[in-house]
Amino acid sequence: MFCSNCGAQIDSKAVICIKCGVPTNNVSQETSMLGATPEGRYDWLTVLLLCFFLGGLGVHSFYTKKTGIGVAQLLTLGGCGIWALIDFIMILTGGFRDGNGNPLYKK
Ligand SMILES: [Zn+2]
Repeated sequence: MFCSNCGAQIDSKAVICIKCGVPTNNVSQETSMLGATPEGRYDWLTVLLLCFFLGGLGVHSFYTKKTGIGVAQLLTLGGCGIWALIDFIMILTGGFRDGNGNPLYKK
């Protein structure tokens, strides 16, 4: 296959182009196997479970790239649980947005 950036011929299993260092399509395939959807959105059930079990530590916020909110939730233990509860309801009702402003992906 060929690099989408510089057009150099690269190994079909390579994750980055050896000539220019740009990630190949293989990278996005790997991320989708880690739980991200093809559109780059996050799986609704995964985020819901993370919020339910680890919401007080802001894990669901870190997971959805809302790092600033995640840190704040970690320091306040999810706003004494209230913040985590609000996020849980938002996820449940479909109002939750990830760090890119996208809704979660329901299968
Ligand atoms: Zn390249």
